Amino acid sequence: AKDQGRNTYQFYTEGMQEKEMMRLELDKDLSEALANDEFVLYYQPQLNLDTGEINNVEALIRWQHPTRGLLSPVEFIPLAEESGRITEIGRWVVLAACRQLARWKGTACGHLRIAVNLSGRELEDATLVDHVRDALTTENIAPHMLELELTEEIFIQNIAQNRSQLSQLHQLGTRLAIDDFGVGYSSLGYLRDFPVDQLKIDRSFITNVTERHDDAVITRAVINLAHNLGIQVVAEGVETEDQLHFLQAHRCNLAQGYLISRPIPGAELEKAIREGALFTGQ
Ligand code: C2E
Ligand code: CA
Ligand code: CA
Ligand code: CA
Repeated sequence: AKDQGRNTYQFYTEGMQEKEMMRLELDKDLSEALANDEFVLYYQPQLNLDTGEINNVEALIRWQHPTRGLLSPVEFIPLAEESGRITEIGRWVVLAACRQLARWKGTACGHLRIAVNLSGRELEDATLVDHVRDALTTENIAPHMLELELTEEIFIQNIAQNRSQLSQLHQLGTRLAIDDFGVGYSSLGYLRDFPVDQLKIDRSFITNVTERHDDAVITRAVINLAHNLGIQVVAEGVETEDQLHFLQAHRCNLAQGYLISRPIPGAELEKAIREGALFTGQ
């Protein structure tokens, strides 16, 4: 069991002690991964349904592990959030996204805005704003080219503490997106209280949107809510043309999902966009 655990970081071992060992080992490996520059960002485009253009991409982290191959964030982000290592990883993500924006300047991707994911734990770091500002300045990037994706609970828990960080980020000029909208939390007041630029409808509503009446009703309601608040709305996890047509018919602004593209490395995305090789639904 130990060897298997070491091999996959799957915490299915029975003993608490063994589990704790595994966590410590993973945390140590994450720290080494930062030092050895083993993380990479993949980029997934969002298709503008009005224009057929791509103006936004989401950065999704992967771990190019020396022996275990390319690891998905679901295998290490939750533990990094628990251990606090996410603060350091998040700093790397923001800087790497800014570097990518700098590299794309003057290419077919020069107009693309990058969205990065921030977990609540990262917002607890009082130096986050300084870090984002420094990364933008160092790479000479206009702040509106960077969007921060945060899940709903961040707006609901510890509101007083998060509010100041978010308003500082807003003052800086970065954009703000609500990730996984519609799952888990029912409070909507934060949409009034925070300057939100984008709402991302969770994939769980989109997967069966053309078959399940309830999902269709909720998706339409969220699109209308966003529009009435003047917020851009994105559907996540779009995999079929039927889903895309539904979203187009109900005037969703943007679609993101495997139908358009899987998350891919920055150089690959630049090539695909330059060659007009991405699905645009037109
Ligand atoms: P998320 O932010 O909700 O990201 C969307 C996830 O859905 C991504 O998984 C993406 O690859 C996947 N996805 C996109 N389109 C489709 C589709 O059409 N069908 C299906 N089945 N899946 C689709 P990924 O890359 O494995 O990331 C998982 C989660 O890890 C993310 O969920 C996010 O919460 C977290 N994460 C990723 N990168 C970072 C990061 O840099 N920082 C932090 N804090 N969290 C990150
Ligand atoms: Ca996200
Ligand atoms: Ca999401
Ligand atoms: Ca998520």
